[in-house]
Amino acid sequence: MSLTAFLQSRYGSGFATRGAVEAHHNAAFRRFRANVMPRSPFYRDMAALPLEQLPRVDKAMLMQNFSAINTSGIDRDEAMQIALKAETSRDFSPLIGDVSVGLSTGTSGQRGLFLATPGERRLWAATMLGRYWPELWRRQRVAFFMRADNALYRSMSNAVVRFEFFDLMASFDDHLDRLDALKPSVLIAPAQVLAVLARHQIEKWISLSPRRIISVAETLSPDEAALIERAFGIRVDQVYQATEGVLAMTCRHGNLHLNERWLRIDRDVIDAETGAFCPIIHDFTRESLPILNYRLNDVLIPQAERCPCGCASQRIARIEGREDDVLWWRAPTGNRMITSEAIRTTFACLPQSLSDYRVIQRGGSLHIWLDGAEKEAETALERGLGLLAASMGCRLPILVFHKGLPPEENGKRRRIRVESDLGLKQVG
Ligand SMILES: [Zn+2]
Repeated sequence: MSLTAFLQSRYGSGFATRGAVEAHHNAAFRRFRANVMPRSPFYRDMAALPLEQLPRVDKAMLMQNFSAINTSGIDRDEAMQIALKAETSRDFSPLIGDVSVGLSTGTSGQRGLFLATPGERRLWAATMLGRYWPELWRRQRVAFFMRADNALYRSMSNAVVRFEFFDLMASFDDHLDRLDALKPSVLIAPAQVLAVLARHQIEKWISLSPRRIISVAETLSPDEAALIERAFGIRVDQVYQATEGVLAMTCRHGNLHLNERWLRIDRDVIDAETGAFCPIIHDFTRESLPILNYRLNDVLIPQAERCPCGCASQRIARIEGREDDVLWWRAPTGNRMITSEAIRTTFACLPQSLSDYRVIQRGGSLHIWLDGAEKEAETALERGLGLLAASMGCRLPILVFHKGLPPEENGKRRRIRVESDLGLKQVG
């Protein structure tokens, strides 16, 4: 299983046609019905139902039914206790049987649990190694920045790899010395951390020469990608991974493809114009905690053209962020989706430079914080956003300018977002 996954991800060219993708999904789901669903008290009686008739699941629903959904008979409260203890002690070794337990913090601050069996951990490691290992004959030093360690990732430590975990909850300054001493050949971190490391590298506070840089766990903006590439002189690869599964990764040509070998990904289209959708995922590799008919609130923008790599897995132009990162402005025909990228571009085109900014949509108003900006910046921005609105055929919301920056919530530094439920989604 894991050798096949390794070879496939290193040397395989992926699915040749959409038909091959579908055949793979049908076979995988048949196996899943026969071997996995009967072991889940929740899904036991649903094994004959078509995929779309399975109950729609989201994080809250998954947590509510965790004890019945998982196939290892693991009790939610017991798992939660183990995960919480690991968080506070920063000792992430405990397992339940041979199943590792992890904790994720949701976007709404809601905690989620996830499980990984040894087989699932091997599959993950084999696929990542196959795809992203620089040279097989050389021992690699991997630096992995994550919010929490988990046996899932430690499974990679062995004779051919020195693997060091950098806890994002610990002091960043202490990490820098250790990182500089490690001189990682592979650097894996969330996009924002990579951006900070890139700035340190440019300032010559650290001197790293990684052969691979992989952005994980959150969306990588074009600005961040450019900064990281400039600092380290190599392309950033992207593994778009939620606790619910590995959704997409970059191919040899640097383009994002959906991970259709592991998942079937249906679309809940939220914007017909761009085809932007929230993925509804069915994961055929996740046996400990089945993920079926599960809707994520991330917004993906599909790309129609085929990739020169030849793989027929759906290409993704970019991950727009979460549903509440996407703005909706009024238009005569309903509401139009305004991507955070369009807003970022407008800011990037300002003649004045800003230290930082925030854009928060609240109902029909757009609240804008400009840090370190003169009055002219407001005028230029008003013009820029006006042009954006006109080009999208919608009305510019009322602009409300503020000084400095707003107080941050949950330490999430999202520059552009929608606050509260606005009932402003696309209508009709
Ligand atoms: Zn490709």
